[in-house]
Amino acid sequence: MTTNHELFQRAQHLMPGGVNSPVRAFKSVGGEPFFTARADGAYLWDVEGKRYVDYVGSWGPMIVGHNHPHVRAAVERAVQNGLSYGTPCAAEVTMAETVTRLVPSMDMVRMVNSGTEATMAAIRLARGYTGRNKIVKFEGCYHGHGDAFLVKAGSGALTFGVPTSPGVPSGLADLTLTLPYNDLAAAEKLFAEAGDDIAGLIIEPVAGNMNCILPRDGYLQGLRDLCTKHGALLIFDEVMTGFRVALGGAQAHYGITPDLSTFGKIIGGGMPVGAYGGRREIMRLIAPSGPVYQAGTLSGNPVAMAAGLAMLELIQTPGFYAEIDRKTRVLTDGLAAIALEAGVSMTTNRVCGMFGLFFTSEKVETFAQATACDTALFNRFFQAMLERGVYLAPSAFEAGFVSSAHDDGVIAATFDAARESLRVAKN
Ligand code: PMP
Repeated sequence: MTTNHELFQRAQHLMPGGVNSPVRAFKSVGGEPFFTARADGAYLWDVEGKRYVDYVGSWGPMIVGHNHPHVRAAVERAVQNGLSYGTPCAAEVTMAETVTRLVPSMDMVRMVNSGTEATMAAIRLARGYTGRNKIVKFEGCYHGHGDAFLVKAGSGALTFGVPTSPGVPSGLADLTLTLPYNDLAAAEKLFAEAGDDIAGLIIEPVAGNMNCILPRDGYLQGLRDLCTKHGALLIFDEVMTGFRVALGGAQAHYGITPDLSTFGKIIGGGMPVGAYGGRREIMRLIAPSGPVYQAGTLSGNPVAMAAGLAMLELIQTPGFYAEIDRKTRVLTDGLAAIALEAGVSMTTNRVCGMFGLFFTSEKVETFAQATACDTALFNRFFQAMLERGVYLAPSAFEAGFVSSAHDDGVIAATFDAARESLRVAKN
């Protein structure tokens, strides 16, 4: 039998850090990653046959659980007809119709292959539309690995302590202005000083790459008003929140209309897909109807569209989000009660199927609070949970995800593991 350790040994000689995406390497939590052999429902199985309850869900897309028969069947049907055409296909039209119906702020959409592509294209479009160069992002927010975004970034960039990446030319980094999340006064001040130069403001409407931080009441509306006043585009990066915190994303949950939105993860049902879209007058500037160039050989891939469409069908089932919301509440309330019993300071944040655990006694609403939490305790807790067959995101700065396949039995088993893990971790 191949072991996780053997695979990681081989991988480290061949791939930087032994992985194809940084946080997977378990570098900050310590130890070695496991290699997944298969996934089904709420579970992953590694190459050694060990089973894990999965609260990462491929970092978000698996909202109906792994290997859902409806999605799998759609993919199997699509594969019968070939893998890539390089011409338009009908599924792309159905996808565009579905997405623009579910997300009313989007009159038009362009499919791409990842969240990173979506955000890169969205800021190019914002710049092309406004004729301005500066963009605003928030400390601890992650928008993929485009140069403009690797300035005070979240996710792996934050986990590994390089939020501003070498290799990003300073001339480009200088065009990215950063703000503290959830501080409207700071945004007002920046716009008062530089508003005429700002093409767009991009934000994770619920921040999921510095753990999980919810916007304060009125905050997103305040940003909407500032962008409108100064002629800058408001871009919601819904790569994580899209089709996750509500069917219409965070914009539906909070009742805010952005100018542009970016999507990924769920929209591909587990296949490599992203999308961006928004108002028609803005989207018309994209090639070939307009001069702002953006293209992709594999964009709108027929197999990926089939997976995404099948996923989008499932999440439109009445009551789908209410049930995920309930389960996530049971999970986070239960974990908070277990921490209290164990005498461990821990607070939680959640919105529908997205949650965060914080080893602190405070309610966490800012980047500074998130980074001040006890990460050493988190790392010990992560390892203890993993040993007991529960896989949390391997970083204190990532959100967790609940799927419709996480039933009450799975959650009860998580509580058993958490009781023991907290006892072990707190010492
Ligand atoms: N934006 C957000 C909010 C994300 O969470 C991520 C990925 N976690 C991205 C963009 C980048 O997406 P991808 O990894 O598909 O390039």
